[in-house]
Order: sequence, then structure tokens, then C-alpha cells
Amino acid sequence: MLDSLMSNLLPLQAVLNARASVPATEAGRRGCPLSDLRDRLRRAGLRPTRQRLSLGWLLFGRGDRHLTAEMLYDEAMRAKVPVSLATVYNTLHQFTEAGLLRQLALDGSKAYFDTNPSEHHHFFLEDEGQVLDMPDCGITVDSLPDAPEGMEIAGVEVIVRLRRRAAGIRKA
Ligand SMILES: [Zn+2]
Repeated sequence: MLDSLMSNLLPLQAVLNARASVPATEAGRRGCPLSDLRDRLRRAGLRPTRQRLSLGWLLFGRGDRHLTAEMLYDEAMRAKVPVSLATVYNTLHQFTEAGLLRQLALDGSKAYFDTNPSEHHHFFLEDEGQVLDMPDCGITVDSLPDAPEGMEIAGVEVIVRLRRRAAGIRKA
């Protein structure tokens, strides 16, 4: 069972190795990133089931990104990971509750999940449903209202909505 999982995941591992600048000997140690993922799930209090490992591999193996359940489901189908859309939804919500993902409130009709759970700001290209991390220097929030009595501000996330400029309209 694990062998078939590994063979499904190998192309992703190749991507992971190509992007991470690890020494050749490390990169050649097959299965290492998978055991890292297993540890990460355990530390977050999640049993590393085959489905969680497969989906976690797809999610976390390619750097910071923003996905909907449908996008992850499509990737799972392409990688021949046998999961249902309902399982993808459930897993994304479990990962979010465990603090491995952050759910972004961008669009009422679709939930986006961020593989970088730390606080940061986003650009949202509404027409294309594309989410981009804002550069670190992109925004400063220096004037916030006082929190209501008995409460404190837990975090601030800014979403800057973008649209493409209409083609052909140029300043004279
Ligand atoms: Zn982000």
C-alpha cells in the first residue's frame, strides 16, 4: 500500500527536490519528505492516514499556495490519488482546525485555503479567482479602532481586490 502511495507521489517528490536547495545526498534519500510530513501531521494532532498524507503531499510539497477544495481535488485526480471531493473538503477543514492551513475569507461562494498559516495580506484577482501573497512591505496597518470591551484584536488581514485594466484604454 505504501509502495503504491510512493509511486503516485514520486513525480511530486521530484518537484519538491528540484525546488529545495538541499545537498544532493539529502535529495537522494527517498521518502524523507514523506516522513517529515508524517511528523508534521502527528505534531498537529492528526493521525497520518494514507489520505491525509497524499493530500498533505500535494498541498505542502510546492511552497506557499492558495487553493480551493476543487483545485486540490483536480490535482489529486491528476496525481491518481483515489479520493472523493467530500474527503478533500473534510481534510482541508481538519488541516485548518489543526493550524496547518488558514482559511481565507475572499469570496462568499468559495473557500480558499492558504498553506502558509501565518498572518499575511493578499491580493485577490476577483474575475480570475486568483490569490497572491502581498509582498512584506506591501501594507502597514497603523490605525486600528479599540477592540470592544473585554476583547482584544487577534489579527488583521487585508485583502486588496484587483481587476485587470481594460485593454485599449491608455492615457493620452
Ligand atoms: Zn497567502
